[in-house]
Amino acid sequence: MEHLQEPSFRQSVDLMFNRAVALMDLPPGLEEKIRVCNATYTVRFGVRLRGQIQTFTGYRSVHSEHMEPVKGGIRFAMSVNQDEVEALAALMTYKCALVETPFGGSKGGLRIDPREYEEYELERITRRFAYELIKRDLINPSQNVPAPDMGTGEREMAWIADQYARMNTTDINSRACVTGKPLNGGGIQGRVEATGRGVQYALREFFRYDEDKAAAGLTGTLDGKRIIVQGLGNVGYHAAQFLSTEDGALIIGIIEHDGALIDPKGLNVDEVRAHIAATGGVKGYNQGTYVAEGLRVLEHECDILIPAAIEGVINMHNAPRIVAPLIIEAANGPVTAGGDEILRQKGCVIIPDMFANAGGVTVSYFEWVKNLSHIRFGRMQRRQEESRHQALIDELERLSADKGLGWTLSPGFKDQYLRGAGELELVRSGLDDTMRAAYQAMRHVWHERDDVTDLRVAAYLVSIDRVAKAYRAKGL
Ligand code: GLU
Repeated sequence: MEHLQEPSFRQSVDLMFNRAVALMDLPPGLEEKIRVCNATYTVRFGVRLRGQIQTFTGYRSVHSEHMEPVKGGIRFAMSVNQDEVEALAALMTYKCALVETPFGGSKGGLRIDPREYEEYELERITRRFAYELIKRDLINPSQNVPAPDMGTGEREMAWIADQYARMNTTDINSRACVTGKPLNGGGIQGRVEATGRGVQYALREFFRYDEDKAAAGLTGTLDGKRIIVQGLGNVGYHAAQFLSTEDGALIIGIIEHDGALIDPKGLNVDEVRAHIAATGGVKGYNQGTYVAEGLRVLEHECDILIPAAIEGVINMHNAPRIVAPLIIEAANGPVTAGGDEILRQKGCVIIPDMFANAGGVTVSYFEWVKNLSHIRFGRMQRRQEESRHQALIDELERLSADKGLGWTLSPGFKDQYLRGAGELELVRSGLDDTMRAAYQAMRHVWHERDDVTDLRVAAYLVSIDRVAKAYRAKGL
């Protein structure tokens, strides 16, 4: 199989897009308009570091501006290139449409290995890259709003927000120029965990439907399900942690860059993460079996496989050997178009990336709204809600006493019922609602149309239809 030619990431996304539009009745011009990337900006800039000028290459690609601002992360990795940012920008368009965040799609990247730099050096590089993008309105609260992605996090977003504020001193909405900021820098609670949390909500929703589980040959709940996760970064860690500690799933395999761990009894996700933080990898962990050729563990038996790292890990070469009945794409593009076809023929159910990992951009949307409204969610309602609940409890207790009924409310119930929702509860509620609504839109198409046999095409159909309607409404 090694001779098989895998399409590029961008081509892979286009192939999937084409499979969906073949089932639609779009005018050919509009189909092409939606497929292509509107613009990709490449910048090369120099930063004086360690006594010499180092040149860096960065990109910001805008796929579709049917809604503005456009949205999507900024990635710091050596693998960054134009094909990759364009593929990722396209996925952002469809993702935002599917979960109904009012954004077009964009993505950025910087070719850099962040581990090779000191923090102060990274800050200079990030600020310089941000400066190049800001002066061209490729970072702007109303036009283009980046967020974290691979190799970036709250720290980089805080630098970007500050750089924008320095260059736009009178913009009262400057904080909304980027999302994924730290809480004390204009961020929102629950953003760091959001993508992993979204994966959990996506799986919970899938497991609510017997018909959907049956398509993957699964039954029951998430309790006791055997999961293998590839990549214990922000997304993989949170997904695995929540699924194991809150839903009773067993994390029987963790794949990292230096190998994999397997333990049929279930691994302790927090402990493995601590081991990685201390030693740089999974090797030497004192539980389970270590497998040096980590990616082979994708082929192990399990109930759910969660690729949560990078694109293309499941492809034409290893797909024939993958036996997981259910794959949920926590990463962007982890299954290539070729791999997807092989798996579909084998009956594997794939919950596609544009839905599965949309938790990040969903909570980014909440953060952006928070920044523009200049008020924390729940600040106005929380105590009012609590006092209304208190009034009801008081009345029930009074009735019970007056009539001698002897009712007592359990303390657990009282505490839970009386507590008004704060920002974190509201964010989680909004995220859960978003993931459920998107799943229902997707599964409706999956089950209602005879010509749709998989969730990915269903997801594309829902998204493309929404983007097409937005273009039509604009008169295009
Ligand atoms: N980088 C994340 C993604 O791929 C988040 C994007 C965002 O929040 O704008 O979905």
